[in-house]
Amino acid sequence: MFQTFDAISDPARGKERIAALRAELEQRGLEGFIIPHSDEYQNESLPPSAQRLYWVTGFTGSAGCAIVLKDRASIFVDGRYTLQVGEQVDTGVLTVRHLIEEPPYRWLERELAFGDRFGYDPRLHTSDNITRLEKACASAGARLVACDTNPVDAIWSNRPAPPAGMVSLHAPEYAGEAAADKLTRLRRELEHDRVDMLVMTQPESIAWLLNIRGADIVHTPVPLCYAIVPAMAEEKPRLFIEPRKLDGKVRQELGKVATLHEEGELAAALAELKARDLTIRLDPMVAAHWFAQQLTGGLARIQNGADPCVMMKARKNATEISGARAAHIRDGAAMARFLCWFDREVPRGGIDEITAVQRLEAYRVETGQIKDLSFDTISASGPNGAIVHYRVTHASNRQLRNNSLYLVDSGAQYLDGTTDVTRTIAIGQPSDEMRDRYTRVLKGHIAIATARFPIGTTGTQLDPFARRALWDAGIDYDHGTGHGVGSYLSVHEGPARIAKTQSVALEQGMILSNEPGYYKAGEYGIRIENLVLVREPVEIKQGEYPLLSFETLTMVPIDTRPIAPGLLTPQEIQWVDAYHEQVRDALTIHLNQEEQDWLARATMPIGRH
Ligand code: ZN
Ligand code: ZN
Repeated sequence: MFQTFDAISDPARGKERIAALRAELEQRGLEGFIIPHSDEYQNESLPPSAQRLYWVTGFTGSAGCAIVLKDRASIFVDGRYTLQVGEQVDTGVLTVRHLIEEPPYRWLERELAFGDRFGYDPRLHTSDNITRLEKACASAGARLVACDTNPVDAIWSNRPAPPAGMVSLHAPEYAGEAAADKLTRLRRELEHDRVDMLVMTQPESIAWLLNIRGADIVHTPVPLCYAIVPAMAEEKPRLFIEPRKLDGKVRQELGKVATLHEEGELAAALAELKARDLTIRLDPMVAAHWFAQQLTGGLARIQNGADPCVMMKARKNATEISGARAAHIRDGAAMARFLCWFDREVPRGGIDEITAVQRLEAYRVETGQIKDLSFDTISASGPNGAIVHYRVTHASNRQLRNNSLYLVDSGAQYLDGTTDVTRTIAIGQPSDEMRDRYTRVLKGHIAIATARFPIGTTGTQLDPFARRALWDAGIDYDHGTGHGVGSYLSVHEGPARIAKTQSVALEQGMILSNEPGYYKAGEYGIRIENLVLVREPVEIKQGEYPLLSFETLTMVPIDTRPIAPGLLTPQEIQWVDAYHEQVRDALTIHLNQEEQDWLARATMPIGRH
């Protein structure tokens, strides 16, 4: 199994660990300390050795932070985690706050006193973050203090060893472009921006550039590493990585495009750069503040700007796009087999959330090509569906009951593509309210799937399309509508997203999710998610601008049983029918007779059931 079901959070531990941390802070003369979710590489998914926020508090979410002061402490999480956090942390010790509505720096501003020393680990925060923390401390008359060693690590007994997963080469038939060619393109961009050196701090970005993949983090095939890339072609890029992760063949291939160094040599390499008359590009959005500290105070100049690979990686090439299409048909067939099994078995009783995860994973394994899941499957029945990032454990596991909704959000890592799909399935008869909500979520999904937009449009501008039908009914959902997705890389990939804040222009070749939802705490959750590809701009007849649009990649039937048909327009019904025809055409040959019969029924035009 790629997934386990043990309860991994124990709120009872928070109290003693926070007390131990306070004792450690006291010794260092600190009033408080901030524990972010992220690690030294600003990863979202972390190896066990870097799960500091989880170890101290019990919170397992993929974003957030805690601030521990002498006599009070808070944990800050976003809307996806507001329900979950209450069950995972000791709320007697930690006050739960909304990361966006009451950000940590604003809370600090209020809580710190004149003369306080407040600590942080410069390897765990971006410079952008530090700027905000600095301001907050300054306005309270307190001082922000960089800690050389992390106080959490100091009290962490039995801390797991850092991972050392073997690195593999990402073959040209999946990558579609040789590392040497990517380097040439990158250098051209660096020269254009008058940059001498690019310091790369994101493993995904380096993995993309050098066509390597790793096994350091569960569900995300990246090797933990850093790199320095000179703009001059005469000088080779330097890759900083644990040598034991590289076997002879990988070492030889990598050696053609880069020189190899231990991670421990990084600080010396940065010190050497600092002493030279160079312009060094550093991405303040993704690089740990530690890098800026290492590079400041010498001859070198830091030029803040994006790591160009982030955008290059987001725009998938033709090989990656055809790989993604193939991966989605393979994955869609596994999902269809699961949904067929589901409709047959669930009414007979005895199926719970865990059985469902196991069954779905078995179908994905039967494709013969799965490398990993792209995240732990969210298998949520009834009220568990309202917990946006629910992870089923033996303790939370629920039987699937009649007249309820079941939400399954899952995906897999294949060499040719990463998938991520959510379906909400009606068991028995959903209530009228559920039908209304389900249909409004579907309308939002269709609005994104069919959107046409001029070049330069950002995901933020499209986001309201997904929410309009919900807003009409006075409801909404507290998460983004879509995230970028990597190619056999992270299932959450920057920089593009469809969300209320922070987004860049959507460009041809980007793959994003389209996943509006609706959640009623304590009752049910709804989400419908497909991955979409930004298509090339097309001239419109008698129009004045060429327009971009999406191609839906995910090939899985959308449950039509909970639809309130009166709420869909004829065009929306047409979209569902056309999508289902496409799904049927793509999947039928991959299914057995029973599954084909099920698929034919599941994809029947609306109104003809
Ligand atoms: Zn998903
Ligand atoms: Zn998603």
